Amino acid sequence: MEKIKMPTPLVEMDGDEMTRIIWEMIKEILLSPYIELNTEYYDLGLVHRNETDDQVTVDSANATKKYGVAVKCATITPNAQRMTEYNLKEMWKSPNGTIRAILDGTVFRAPIIVNGITPLIHTWKKPITIARHAYGDVYKNTEMAVSKGSRAELVVTDENGNETRELIHSFSGSDGIIQGLHNLDQSIGSFARSCFNFALDVKQDLWFATKDTISKKYDHRFKDIFSEIYEKEYKDKFAQAGIEYFYTLIDDAVARVVRSEGGYIWACKNYDGDVMSDMVATAFGSLGMMTSVLVSPDGVYEYEAAHGTVTRHYYKHLKGEETSTNSVATIFAWSGALKKRGQIDNVSELVSFAEKLEQATVRTIEEGVMTGDLAALSKLPDKKKVNTRQFLLEIKDRLEKLL
Ligand code: NAP
Ligand code: MG
Repeated sequence: MEKIKMPTPLVEMDGDEMTRIIWEMIKEILLSPYIELNTEYYDLGLVHRNETDDQVTVDSANATKKYGVAVKCATITPNAQRMTEYNLKEMWKSPNGTIRAILDGTVFRAPIIVNGITPLIHTWKKPITIARHAYGDVYKNTEMAVSKGSRAELVVTDENGNETRELIHSFSGSDGIIQGLHNLDQSIGSFARSCFNFALDVKQDLWFATKDTISKKYDHRFKDIFSEIYEKEYKDKFAQAGIEYFYTLIDDAVARVVRSEGGYIWACKNYDGDVMSDMVATAFGSLGMMTSVLVSPDGVYEYEAAHGTVTRHYYKHLKGEETSTNSVATIFAWSGALKKRGQIDNVSELVSFAEKLEQATVRTIEEGVMTGDLAALSKLPDKKKVNTRQFLLEIKDRLEKLL
C-alpha cells in the first residue's frame, strides 16, 4: 500500500512524561507506516518550554491559527515541585491556557463509548459533549470580607467619569462576604459561535442553560447573546443540518441530562462546565477515554486527550517497570486531527484512514483486549490486560484488516 500524502501540514505539539512516550509509539506503530506524516513539529515538553522561555507555546498556537488544525500531547503545568524537578527559570503558565487565550477557543470534551464499559447512568447510550466557557465569572472575581455595619455597593464609572451605584447589601446585623464578577459580550459571543459551529460540524443538537430567571441581567445576557447569534447566523444552517438549538434553565438541564440517552452538546457557563464536565466524565468511566478539542470561533481546531501526563505511570516506566497506560484518548486526538485535516484539504483517504483507526481501537477493546484501567471497568466476560505497547500492536493488527 502506498502511504497517504498530506498536502497541508498539521501542527504537532509534543508533550511530557508518559503521554510523550505514548505519542512516539502511536506515530511509530499506527501512523507512520501508513501516512507520510506532514507535521509542523513544536516541542511543548517542559524542558523545551523552559529553554525557549515558553515562546514555543506561543509559536505553536500561532501556527495552529495559520494551518487550522493541531494535535496536542498532554503537558505538565508547573507547580512548586516541578520548579525543582525541572530546574525551571519561571513557573510557566499552563500551555492549554496560553493556547486557548491565543485562539479564543472553547473546549469540547466528549467520552469514547465502547461495549462492555457502561456509564454509571444507565440511560446514557451516546456521548454527551460538554462545552465549557473559559472566560470570566467566578474565575476572574474580586472578593471581600465585609464587617458588620458596612454597606456594600456596586460602583461603575463610565469613560466620562459618571458613576452608577447599586446597593449590594447593608451589613447591619452580621459580618459577611461579597463577590464581584464580570464577563464580556465579546467573549460570550465567541463562545456561542464556537458552540454553534461545533454542533454543525458533528451534527448534534446544542443545549445551553443558565439561571436567567434569578440573574436577570448577568445570566440573561448570556441567553440573549446566544439567541441573537443563533437567529441571525445559524438558524437556517441548523435547519438544513436537521439539528436543534435548545435553551433551558440550568436545573432543568441537569434533570434532562440525567434522563437523556446522550448524543448532544451541552454548553455550560464557566463554573457549570467545571462541575458538570467532571460529573459527566466520571459517569462515563475512565479519564483515558475522554477526548478534548479546542475550537475557535473562526473554525480552528486543536485536538487532545482530556487527561494529563499520567505521571505515576511515567515514574514506573523510568524504573523499567511494565506500564499499562491507556492511549485511546491520545489516538483519538490524532484521528480527530487527521480527519479534520483530510476534510479541509479534501483528502478522502486520510479521512477514511482516521475512521478506520478509531474503529480498530474500539474493536480491540470490545474484543476484550485492553489496558489496566479499562480491564478494571469492563463487564466483558473474557478480557485480557495488556501493556502500553502491546495494546497499540493489537490495534495495529485490527487496523490492517480494515485497510
Ligand atoms: P493525570 O495525568 O490525568 O492522571 C491522574 C490519574 O488518572 C493517573 O495517575 C491514572 O490513575 C489515571 N489516568 C489518567 N489518564 C490515564 C490513562 N491514559 N491511562 C491510565 N490511567 C490514566 O492527572 P494528574 O496526575 O493530576 O496530572 C499529571 C500531570 O498532567 C500534571 O503535571 C498536570 O499539570 C498535567 N495535566 C495536563 C493536562 C493537559 O495537558 N491537558 C491535563 C491535566 C493534567 P492511576 O495512577 O490510578 O493508574
Ligand atoms: Mg474541575
